Amino acid sequence: MAERVGFIGLGIMGKPMAQNLTEAGFDLTVYNRSPEKAEELGEAGATVAASPREVAGNSDVVITMLPDSPQVREVVAGEGGVLEGIREGSLLVDMSTISPVVTEEIAEAAKEHGASMLDAPVSGGDVGAIEGTLSIMVGGEEEDFERAKPLFEAMGKTVTHVGPVGAGQVTKAANQVVVALTIEAVSEALVLGSAGGVAPEKILDVLSGGLAGNKVMEVKREKFLSHSFDPGFRSELHHKDLGIALAAGREYGVVLPVTAIVDQMFEALMARGRGGWDHSALLTLVEDLAQREMQ
Ligand code: NAD
Repeated sequence: MAERVGFIGLGIMGKPMAQNLTEAGFDLTVYNRSPEKAEELGEAGATVAASPREVAGNSDVVITMLPDSPQVREVVAGEGGVLEGIREGSLLVDMSTISPVVTEEIAEAAKEHGASMLDAPVSGGDVGAIEGTLSIMVGGEEEDFERAKPLFEAMGKTVTHVGPVGAGQVTKAANQVVVALTIEAVSEALVLGSAGGVAPEKILDVLSGGLAGNKVMEVKREKFLSHSFDPGFRSELHHKDLGIALAAGREYGVVLPVTAIVDQMFEALMARGRGGWDHSALLTLVEDLAQREMQ
């Protein structure tokens, strides 16, 4: 019999991911803290549950896609949470980006209930979630990975088993370091070039063709050029992810000096009230520091 799937957290990422699972024919039960988003999936054929516990009671595999470690802890292990409803042999799949340490803690709690866990954070942004082309990096046991693979394939294009529980989150932290530092580098290049009289479009066109070319320039091009920073990926979430990377670096004894600077840049962006803007809005902070707008 096909697995019954539960999905909790229907935000920018979770909603289209859940939609792709419904479209692939999975029998889905959903829950979101603000119920309107769950209702929309209800109209698309999913069962709407009243609590994470009810989702777990209805499902063989429970997926969570929540903002950060405290929300995953609350939804899984809190009152009315997943663990209250989960059955022996069920599989919990956390696709949020959270701390690898909290991941291991939750996997242990799931084990006590006879359930297993995968951490399966994603990259590819809202566009990848909508198009079902996410990159999914998975930590956990091989047999659990094989069990969840058909679900991952409905949501993503590149699905990789990277190691034991927690390894998915470590890989995601590495990914977030590269993306943040690249946004900062592109922002500095744009403000520098524009101050020297070169049009930002030309800078992006020319740099894209050489060693400096990167996906940030391609995917965030319109946001940079139009200065419209609707998310996408919120700056406060990227700040959270650099915190995860810095904490992991501290734990493993790895120095991450430039990550620390960009983490502080995001802190400054949030202090200016721009935490809800797309992470490409780091450009506006570089502009503030230079006291000139890119044009
Ligand atoms: P979001 O804020 O849009 O969505 C989070 C959802 O969780 C919301 O619908 C919210 O109502 C729900 N929620 C929050 N707290 C809850 C609780 N206690 N109980 C039940 N529901 C609760 O965030 P998002 O952009 O969809 O990101 C989700 C995760 O995916 C984050 O960990 C983020 O870092 C990661 N991520 C996001 C992107 C992106 O481009 N947006 C890309 C890759 C990874």
